[in-house]
Amino acid sequence: MKQKTVLVTGASRGIGRACALRFAAEGYHVFLNCRSSLEELQGVKREIEAAGNASCTLVPGDVGCPEEVETIFSRIQSCCGGLDVLINNAGISWMGLLTDMTDEDWTRVIQTNLSSVFYCCRAAIPHMVHEKRGRIISITSMWGTAGASCEAAYSASKAGVHGLTRALAKELAPSGIQVNALACGVIDTRMNDVLTEEDKKVLAEEVPAGRFGTPEEVAESVWFLANAPSYLTGQIIGIDGGFL
Ligand code: NDP
Repeated sequence: MKQKTVLVTGASRGIGRACALRFAAEGYHVFLNCRSSLEELQGVKREIEAAGNASCTLVPGDVGCPEEVETIFSRIQSCCGGLDVLINNAGISWMGLLTDMTDEDWTRVIQTNLSSVFYCCRAAIPHMVHEKRGRIISITSMWGTAGASCEAAYSASKAGVHGLTRALAKELAPSGIQVNALACGVIDTRMNDVLTEEDKKVLAEEVPAGRFGTPEEVAESVWFLANAPSYLTGQIIGIDGGFL
């Protein structure tokens, strides 16, 4: 049987790394992307290769840049034709008052968190349509649903992915492709390193589950969505310890 393929954007650490390891453990060929943390990405490649039953290819590049996404996908196409699964995970946060945000800050958040999903979906879809199957899973945030104070651009970018997910699911359901998003609560990754230990403790107490989620729990949910019945599409599924 042909080896299945997955692209994980932002795979050098955190949730993306956990997703890459989860799919590798199931024997997928994993395309590993990040923008700048190439040493960490090499480390993920070594972990996958050490485990034995999987293979991977590094496809670094800024997924917020359409030309770089074209290059990433031309490498994927020449390697194996296309993807079975696309995991749109790369993302950045920006915290502060909206009135303190520059045009450049706004553009960087929207390009990285929202436009990247458009660029990657646009490139992945033709092969999936040809195969009449495929899964697109985007990592979003509960703030895309509820909105967070001092994270307006971030919330808007994730809400944009929610809209894109619902619309694209309708567009692609006749072609046998499922499109879903996982709206994460607070997950224990470097993205939250901006918080002090005290802030983290207070935040964890606000979560009904009483703790931050782990990248592995998110990866397990992504794996579930990649294997869920094909009738499950167009959904924004929360993994937030009961926060919302
Ligand atoms: P991390 O900061 O730990 O990892 C982010 C990853 O994205 C890194 O691999 C980073 O690599 C990559 N990345 C960032 N910008 C780009 C870019 N332009 N092109 C390619 N790769 C890029 O964050 P998390 O693992 O926490 O976040 C993963 C996703 O989960 C994000 O979309 C985030 O918004 C979402 N999320 C996270 C939550 C949390 O509490 N942690 C909560 C809700 C959602 P590099 O540094 O090399 O660019």
